[in-house]
Amino acid sequence: MPSDTSKRTSITRAWNSTIAYLVGGAVCLGLSVLMFMTIASGPVTIGIALIPGIVGVLLFVSAAGSGIAECPGCGKQLTGLGTSSNDGVLCPHCHLYFEGKDKQLWATDPERIADAPTFSAPLPERFQFPEACCVCGQAATQKIPVKYSTMNASSAVTNPVAGVTSTTTITVEVPHCAAHKDGASLTGSAKNTRIRFRSYPYMRAYCQANQLTPA
Ligand SMILES: [Zn+2]
Ligand SMILES: [Zn+2]
Repeated sequence: MPSDTSKRTSITRAWNSTIAYLVGGAVCLGLSVLMFMTIASGPVTIGIALIPGIVGVLLFVSAAGSGIAECPGCGKQLTGLGTSSNDGVLCPHCHLYFEGKDKQLWATDPERIADAPTFSAPLPERFQFPEACCVCGQAATQKIPVKYSTMNASSAVTNPVAGVTSTTTITVEVPHCAAHKDGASLTGSAKNTRIRFRSYPYMRAYCQANQLTPA
């Protein structure tokens, strides 16, 4: 393994945000129970009484993602980590990817090919893909369309296919060899689309070719 993957840091729980999430979650669940006991008598009122309960559950789930650690690459603080295992964690300061298990965090092997698209970069209006398979880096023999439909909050972007201006479909043709077909996916919103690759080295090559920063 390259030397920079050997440095490990420990994940600790951010107790102030964990407690805030847990207290908030308990208050919301309590409110939901109270509303069920007082106003819930039909479908609409039951729906209303459920809302704080759902918020409460979401807050409990958020408590699980309140791990913090020192970035093993640059030493700055990383927040919003899982408290035990993590994968595909991008440091916003040094722009490297990190992963880990058992409350440890370390730099992802620079040559890693993940099982699913994990390493993401911006998809600007104009860009080019490095001419190699986006999974294994061998000669590309085919371009596979990767599609993504995103909901529009505004009607600024129009979809010529549908009569309503509610979704935009983005398609990019990503180079693959004959043996691979699932090396990339799109994510984000219409205004801020990002492309994720299974291959960490290909993502870095793509960023370098287009002068982008992983995001
Ligand atoms: Zn860092
Ligand atoms: Zn390949």
